[in-house]
Amino acid sequence: MRKTIIAGNWKMNKTNNETIQILNDLKKEIKEIEGISNIGVVIGTPFTALSDAVKTVENSVIKIAAQNVYPKESGAYTGEISPAMLKDIGVEYVILGHSERRDYFKESNSFINEKIKAVLSHNMSPIFCIGEHLEDREAGKVKEVITKQVKEGLANLSADEMKKVIVAYEPIWAIGTGKTATPEIAQETHEQIREVLKEMFGETSKEITIQYGGSMKPNNAKELLSQKDIDGGLIGGASLNAKDFSAIIKAAL
Ligand code: PEP
Repeated sequence: MRKTIIAGNWKMNKTNNETIQILNDLKKEIKEIEGISNIGVVIGTPFTALSDAVKTVENSVIKIAAQNVYPKESGAYTGEISPAMLKDIGVEYVILGHSERRDYFKESNSFINEKIKAVLSHNMSPIFCIGEHLEDREAGKVKEVITKQVKEGLANLSADEMKKVIVAYEPIWAIGTGKTATPEIAQETHEQIREVLKEMFGETSKEITIQYGGSMKPNNAKELLSQKDIDGGLIGGASLNAKDFSAIIKAAL
């Protein structure tokens, strides 16, 4: 059975002290899910808070994600962070290919592919984001766009490596806009993604967690999460406070 993973992406929000406070609040809010093995909770904090975040969630169900990485071991790459540095402080997940990084920082599918491989080689899990712009959807190009992102982003990975990869489908028009894909639209696209994964990785495609992201909130989470190919969520705005985020986690129970 696929694991449901609810992940928060804090983006460029929260100081170190705020991070510790929210994670402590979140631990209290979700005590009841400790011991439920089929649900995972991940929070992607800014780099500056990662180390204390890992210590704060020790012995809880919550795991910590970075929001980016540079795909080199070490060297003259001013300002960048290597996978080994993240692994060393106890980070377990890395969010990669987010549309903000693709659009603002011009990250290509092949660069994202390099990052995915670097993260896997350090035994961490990539959360690999894909999704179409509104113009793509309006032009009927969703399948084409998604297929290209999946095929190029996950090129040359083995089915075994894919067991550690989470895919996050995030229609860009739904991110931070309050516009959510309807459960039917999201399910249809998740099914298409799983078909591409099947073509590439065979039966392993059935084990791959595919999250939905894009204005997931406490009031729409249950309907989205009950779709057969939606295995969790990647949540931006509503992950910034413990009450809303825990309500979304509980919607997955
Ligand atoms: C995101 O940025 O990954 C996201 C889904 O944001 P929001 O939930 O705010 O739409």
